[in-house]
Amino acid sequence: MEKRVEEIVIVGSGPAAWTAATYAARARLDPLVFEGAPSREMIPGGQLMFTTEVENYPGFPDGVDGQSLMLSMRAQAVRFVTRIATDDIVKLDAGGQPFILTSAEGTEVRARAVVVATGARANWLGLKNERRLAETGGGVSACAVCDGALPAFRNQVLAVVGGGDSAMEEATYLTKFAKEVVIIHRRDAFRASPIMVERVLKNEKIRVEWNAVVTEVLGDDFVTGIRVRNGEAGEERVIEVGGFFVAIGHTPNTGFLKGVVTLDDKGYVVTAKAWRTETSVPGIFAAGDVMDPYYRQAITAAGTGCMAALEAERWLSHASDEAGEKAVISPTSDHHLPRSPRP
Ligand SMILES: Cc1cc2nc3c(=O)[nH]c(=O)nc-3n(C[C@H](O)[C@H](O)[C@H](O)COP(=O)(O)OP(=O)(O)OC[C@H]3O[C@@H](n4cnc5c(N)ncnc54)[C@H](O)[C@@H]3O)c2cc1C
Repeated sequence: MEKRVEEIVIVGSGPAAWTAATYAARARLDPLVFEGAPSREMIPGGQLMFTTEVENYPGFPDGVDGQSLMLSMRAQAVRFVTRIATDDIVKLDAGGQPFILTSAEGTEVRARAVVVATGARANWLGLKNERRLAETGGGVSACAVCDGALPAFRNQVLAVVGGGDSAMEEATYLTKFAKEVVIIHRRDAFRASPIMVERVLKNEKIRVEWNAVVTEVLGDDFVTGIRVRNGEAGEERVIEVGGFFVAIGHTPNTGFLKGVVTLDDKGYVVTAKAWRTETSVPGIFAAGDVMDPYYRQAITAAGTGCMAALEAERWLSHASDEAGEKAVISPTSDHHLPRSPRP
């Protein structure tokens, strides 16, 4: 028996994926979402699962907690009949139509169109002891919201390294539990948004070490301190801490896309045209943080998720019009986008 060919498979589970799924489901494309498997660095639902308060997502004048927002987005996609697999996609064969996706559990799925919405994950400093202590529950973490409430961190001095929105958010969150939070930042100004910086600098529990770099994480079974150097030629000294949180940005989850679609030097998916989500391979679309190193917001992820589903829908109907149900799309065709006006 011939294997089923999905109209559209969506890979990921953040705002981009669930928005794409809702649009695709309402367009009767019967989407299948691979939402990913839970791991130390990623959980289904994406990055907002790690944040308490989302204050800038439209429609919530009093704010909304990240988990509720993501569970609502998922439920909305399910309401219009989205099928979900809690599994990672590890391979995408785009050599011909249909595309073949392989999951970590070994499931093989064939699809005419794919939306990649796999987002991004935390970066590490690469210091001695850092990953070892992170992986053994030794007081090093890249997610304050996941780990900050653990008893081990209560009433401790906790260090956060970074200067962007994530670092501000993590430091503020940790003040709920910590005796003191020390932000270590290698420059003399934060690059985070002004409102978040203002909140941090006003917080009496937060102290900032400017122009400082962490050179070593100390501790055998549990972190006891960090070695810090101020300035280029500054002397090193130890700051005793009972927890170390790394908040230095993210890397796009595009390992399975190397050699499949065009990526930039940081691994972000490059879209073929401005204001489009189609990648270098017709029929594969990208949405959210995985293709956006600039805005990286929930609303922009949701917006590009909508764009990807609309483009995929039009691409699929155009392909069907051109060659019937057994459409074979030439990867070199530049006529794959329908010419109908935007809705
Ligand atoms: C601490 C923190 C606070 C934030 N606060 C805000 C805020 O207040 N407002 C705001 O607008 N933005 C905020 N952001 C940014 C926002 O979370 C992101 O811009 C948004 O979540 C990106 O959505 P996304 O759909 O691209 O994917 P993500 O949210 O990154 O989710 C992608 C998910 O896809 C899954 N996945 C990954 N690889 C695979 C694979 N191979 N197969 C299957 N599934 C896979 C994983 O579960 C992954 O988590 C915050 C980010 C952080 C880290």
